[in-house]
Amino acid sequence: MKIDVDGTKCQGYGLCAEIAPDLFDLDDFGYAASTGDGPLPDAQLDLARRAAAECPAAAVRLLS
Ligand code: SF4
Repeated sequence: MKIDVDGTKCQGYGLCAEIAPDLFDLDDFGYAASTGDGPLPDAQLDLARRAAAECPAAAVRLLS
């Protein structure tokens, strides 16, 4: 499973990076990107799911 941030939806709330700082980087304007493009380690899955569930813009998707 990997993280995809839809840049057309992200509103720069920064919640994803608060929840999972190792999984998301924020740019100077607060817009998010995934820190990696490979499969997520099992230990990170719960945090990734939480970030996806709590993103107010529904911009975070988990791809299998
Ligand atoms: S929580 Fe959602 S809207 Fe906020 S920075 Fe992360 S991806 Fe963007």
